[in-house]
Amino acid sequence: MWKTFKETILDILWPKKCVNCGKLGKCLCDDCFALIEIFRDISCEKFLYLDGLHYATAYKDKLVKSIIHSCKYARIKELTRPLADLIIAHFKLLDNQTVLSNQLFAYS
Ligand SMILES: [Zn+2]
Repeated sequence: MWKTFKETILDILWPKKCVNCGKLGKCLCDDCFALIEIFRDISCEKFLYLDGLHYATAYKDKLVKSIIHSCKYARIKELTRPLADLIIAHFKLLDNQTVLSNQLFAYS
């Protein structure tokens, strides 16, 4: 992927570093991403007016909490990608895809 001139200048002046370990290059390095536990089970349960919820990972995890706070309050947009990757990985790890499909299509 080609960087724009603006991105190149910004990377020189303020190089990206991992929010967890400080390693230069990415806002969340691959080593730190690998430390995040991704849930393998469907975590559906009745919750208020919802029929169920899925949890891709634990919000109580300090790293996850740090990523979400950095994304939300420090507006580090690059962290949205690893968060999306966590959700995608969670759904890929689900053992019973037919249950998930049935739940998704039940509302369509
Ligand atoms: Zn790191």
